[in-house]
Amino acid sequence: MEIKELVKKQRDYFFCNETKSYKFRKKALKDLLDCINNHEAEIVKSLYDDLNKSDIEAYMTEIGLVKGEIKHALKHLSTWMKRKKVKTSLSQIPGKCYIVKDPYGVVLIMSPWNYPFLLSMAPLVGAIASGNCCVLKPSIYSLNTSHIIKKIINSCFKNEYCDVIEGGRNENTELLNQVFDYIFFTGSADVGKIVMEKASVNLTPISLELGGKSPVIIDETANIDLTAKRLVFGKFINAGQTCIAPDYVLVPKSKESELLECIKKWINAFYKLENNKIKDYPKIINEKHFNRLLGLIDSKKVYYGGTFNKEDFTIFPTIMTNVEYSDLVMQQEIFGPILPVLTYTNLDEVIKKMHDLPKPLALYLFTNDTKVKNKILQQVSFGGGCINDTLMHIATTYMGFGGVGYSGMGSYHGASSFYTFTHKKSIIEKGKYDLPIRFRPYGKKAKDIIKKI
Ligand code: NAD
Repeated sequence: MEIKELVKKQRDYFFCNETKSYKFRKKALKDLLDCINNHEAEIVKSLYDDLNKSDIEAYMTEIGLVKGEIKHALKHLSTWMKRKKVKTSLSQIPGKCYIVKDPYGVVLIMSPWNYPFLLSMAPLVGAIASGNCCVLKPSIYSLNTSHIIKKIINSCFKNEYCDVIEGGRNENTELLNQVFDYIFFTGSADVGKIVMEKASVNLTPISLELGGKSPVIIDETANIDLTAKRLVFGKFINAGQTCIAPDYVLVPKSKESELLECIKKWINAFYKLENNKIKDYPKIINEKHFNRLLGLIDSKKVYYGGTFNKEDFTIFPTIMTNVEYSDLVMQQEIFGPILPVLTYTNLDEVIKKMHDLPKPLALYLFTNDTKVKNKILQQVSFGGGCINDTLMHIATTYMGFGGVGYSGMGSYHGASSFYTFTHKKSIIEKGKYDLPIRFRPYGKKAKDIIKKI
């Protein structure tokens, strides 16, 4: 079916009002969960074929999180959907005020290739819970996962309700030329700008879930061994192809050598190299990104790693030292298993530098000093993050996840997903009686009363 025809079909279906009831939304979420359960082995295989992801990583970082989102939505949906009564101000008396949770209509979700199942399905859960129809556009780079997503969606939903468009440039362009009621985009800032420009033509509301360079700041009080362990976990999972992966590290000069030793120790513990291979280690998604990443490695600055395997596009965990902000590796989001370590002497200078850089999607602070913690939280703007850990702030349905400024706008997960895809309609409902002072002609008494109110 043509994209234009599909969007029209979905809009017609949305106006039948079927998708809006609690019963419909609940059934749709349950059907989706069942379908995911039934296709779990195929999802795991597709993630392995696209990215060489192990089954445990596939479950921990994708399938398990999606199921968690669905179960959370099922549990809270009826509460989220309820009209919210609010106070009626004096000037509106007599009357009652409330907020109606209104689905936007037909929404477009565009997702990237790095966590292709999670980043397509988690927003979809929000779109369904909110009562919308949905067109999903996964990335062409993770083709096997795109196929299984299409299979799942087409087996549990009619296409006038939810459908998946596969393809690349032509399909993306064609989709963005349609009028949607909401666009939810996850990907790079460059494409985010294109999406925003296209959305502006129709003033379509959007969420942009982007990336950027997420810093790790370590201070003198941090437990260096624990820091290194959690840093290695967060950096090299999915071979660094994670939007919130620690991009680079800032460590006091006095702690640098201890940190480097510990990082090396934990890399060796987690990623054993045998016959030029690491078991279950994800590959770089394609040749273009593989070559881009190799171009970021300055062999003179490699402290550890720096090796790769051209046959299967793997780059082994790599640490670079003596790195400056002016180095190539600091000029773009790395999005791969290369970790530059920079040193500092004064935390205030680090904060000042943060003010000059684009606001990151995540920030990770390792400290045992409450003053330092509060200072960073108060003085640096970033999407979200962890104190003394990496990545883990994403794995919850109780907090929204998203960027700020250059790293995006809007947030989702749990209730935030529901509200992302819901317009809050503010309503006042009136009876027969009116305050007479509201109407002309206005006398002195009316003026006094209005001023008081
Ligand atoms: P990308 O921007 O190249 O592509 C994202 C999506 O946009 C894909 O579906 C792609 O097909 C589509 N697209 C590509 N070019 C387009 C164009 N010209 N017009 C319209 N659509 C187009 O991103 P990617 O390479 O797939 O993913 C990597 C980026 O995504 C990184 O910057 C990463 O940080 C970011 N990311 C962010 C999050 C988050 O939750 N904030 C999650 C994962 C990835």
